[in-house]
Amino acid sequence: MSLRLYDTRARSVRPLALQQPGRVGLYVCGPTVQARPHVGHLRSAVALDVLHRWLLASGLQVVLVRNVTDVDDKIIHDAGHDGEPWWALATRMTRAFTAAYDSVQVLPPTAEPRVTGSIPSIVALVERIVERGHAYASGGDVYLSVRTVKGYGELSGQELDALRASTRAVAHGHTGHKRDPLDFALWKAAKPGEPSWPSPWGPGRPGWHIECSAMAVDHLGESFDLHAGGVDLVFPHHENELAQSRCAGHGFAQHWLHHGLVTVAGGGGEKMSKSLGNSTLVEDVLTTVRPQVLRYALGAAHYRSPLEWSPQAVADAEAAYGRIETFVRNATQATTGAPAGESKASWDEFAAALDDDLGVPQALAVVHAGVRAGNALLAAGELPALAATLGQVRRMLAVLALDPVEQWPAGSGGQLAPVVDALVAIAVEARADARARKDWARADAVRDRLNASGIVLEDTMVDGVPGVRWRLA
Ligand SMILES: [Zn+2]
Repeated sequence: MSLRLYDTRARSVRPLALQQPGRVGLYVCGPTVQARPHVGHLRSAVALDVLHRWLLASGLQVVLVRNVTDVDDKIIHDAGHDGEPWWALATRMTRAFTAAYDSVQVLPPTAEPRVTGSIPSIVALVERIVERGHAYASGGDVYLSVRTVKGYGELSGQELDALRASTRAVAHGHTGHKRDPLDFALWKAAKPGEPSWPSPWGPGRPGWHIECSAMAVDHLGESFDLHAGGVDLVFPHHENELAQSRCAGHGFAQHWLHHGLVTVAGGGGEKMSKSLGNSTLVEDVLTTVRPQVLRYALGAAHYRSPLEWSPQAVADAEAAYGRIETFVRNATQATTGAPAGESKASWDEFAAALDDDLGVPQALAVVHAGVRAGNALLAAGELPALAATLGQVRRMLAVLALDPVEQWPAGSGGQLAPVVDALVAIAVEARADARARKDWARADAVRDRLNASGIVLEDTMVDGVPGVRWRLA
């Protein structure tokens, strides 16, 4: 495999090495299902979906595990506030996330484990870490002793002393006491009224970090290929996942990938988040933006760059995607039945761009170059070359989940195309009838109304038989 990806721990782009040839084990930190998904959540999903699809297009089997954090402080707090059971809120929001992922064609993961369904594995992992002398119980809590971890801070590139100096955390946790401010909870003793599960340390629930270490091992084994998530998770979440998994004697992730966040226009680079009160809900965006345009807008930047969300970004995406759609629509119409010649779009350039740390901007540049070349072939009537170019462009679009024909049929011109064809055919017949009656005013009026709808009629001559075909202006 020729895919090279930036590795946060190595701080360089390096080949993605696989433990088992032909198979990738990928763990993605999923959502905490506390509230409806916003655009930032969906950017994460789209960026990692491009990775997922490129791995599949490269001929690999992908085992993608994306967890759901369905019990946590925020869920318990919000549910209590609204008088809804915590588990009902979590289930409702899990459905909202699934709907948002589906709306932009994010492929489902191989496994989607929930924290509440993984408690036995989590308790067993905490026990193992305690037995190995890296964690201690205090007041019903269990803490990881960070000073026992060799290399702590290595993933996020921080020195232990500097971290300690910058940690203002008071040295007590949920109910117990920490020996060091950097120590973090693997298990939290239950407070009155909170959900809890039995454990050797009394009733309680898992800390946030430990859940991912346990679920990754459950589904991918003690050592696996790739761990991904947002750059805001590098510290402390992923640093702590790595630390505790090492304490358990696990090899854990061999490669770490982090994507950039969505920032808010005019917010001075501030990230979009519910807690900052600046989030835009996916369901609100989709009332005015087509889902394929949202997918384009969220996926067009390089995954490691921050992505600024603004009306202009959406307008740019609509224009760029519109150019692709128009080309695919017109070229499909023009090349039906045409033999394939030589493509003017280069799959090799597209593949090289994605193999180089998922260079989506470069890959999209190859797509748009193919569209421009294709439009020129269409204008020149070079149908065999156009058919081949269209095929290559659509193959590229499929990897990005942007193919207007196969992937975005409903309401996007794809599934509607036969309907439009039938309606245009009626109009064309009406125009032909008017011409036969020498009613030129009526014939021109039909053509003008089609033009006003963005449909251009072109007279054709196939094997000596005159006809009419239509295309989008
Ligand atoms: Zn995680």
